[in-house]
Amino acid sequence: MPLSIVIPFYNEEESLPELISWIENVTQTHQYSYEIILVDDGSTDQSWEIVKQLQLNNTHIKGISFQRNYGKSAALNEAFKVAKGDYVITMDADLQDSPEEIPELYNMMLQGKYDIISGWKKKRFDNALTKNIPSKLYNYVTGKMSGIKLHDMNCGLKIYKNKVIKSIEVYGEMHRYIPVLAKWAGFRNIGEKPVVHQARKYGVSKFGWERFVNGFLDLASIMFVGKYGKK
Ligand code: UDP
Ligand code: MG
Repeated sequence: MPLSIVIPFYNEEESLPELISWIENVTQTHQYSYEIILVDDGSTDQSWEIVKQLQLNNTHIKGISFQRNYGKSAALNEAFKVAKGDYVITMDADLQDSPEEIPELYNMMLQGKYDIISGWKKKRFDNALTKNIPSKLYNYVTGKMSGIKLHDMNCGLKIYKNKVIKSIEVYGEMHRYIPVLAKWAGFRNIGEKPVVHQARKYGVSKFGWERFVNGFLDLASIMFVGKYGKK
């Protein structure tokens, strides 16, 4: 199977039906065989019921459901264990990432040069003060610490060779640093593609200010392990 599309979600009941039909449009147009892995990270709304409904009409959809909210990293990690596609795409559930990007990301991977291509929300539709400016600082610091120069390390939209996601373990807040984990696992060919971004259409962001603190603590701890673990 060429493509696995991995989507972690936490209380995204309004977005899921639209997202799935948008993905179906793209996969039909391009005649892809694919699977969609939807990971319910402990939603308390109707999201999981909606996934079960969607599965009735689309046999490509697989569902994983957590008993409680373990976080985006844990959700990605579980999906990575089961993903069968030669290439694995991750995207957010809230319609901020566009499925229209899938064909180009996939074609770029087929050229064989990259282990990962990370999306870059070049024109970003989020709050400037709480998201866009802190994100620039975060990308700068992370780039300095890890040696990986990406404009948008934490973009939810990415594509990986299957062996990359099978070689890493994503936990805590590490979903923000997957390219760093991949680099340490030996996958150094990390590309970047500007991607279309949209404002959140339904619901609210699931990450607050604490993401910076937790995120940097996790990066600091893995940097420590990376530096001293090898000695
Ligand atoms: N998400 C998740 N578990 C969480 C928090 C978020 O699975 O504990 C999902 C969320 O539903 C969305 C994606 O991760 O699909 C990105 O979250 P969000 O859109 O809230 O982040 P933002 O775009 O505001 O950074
Ligand atoms: Mg979002």
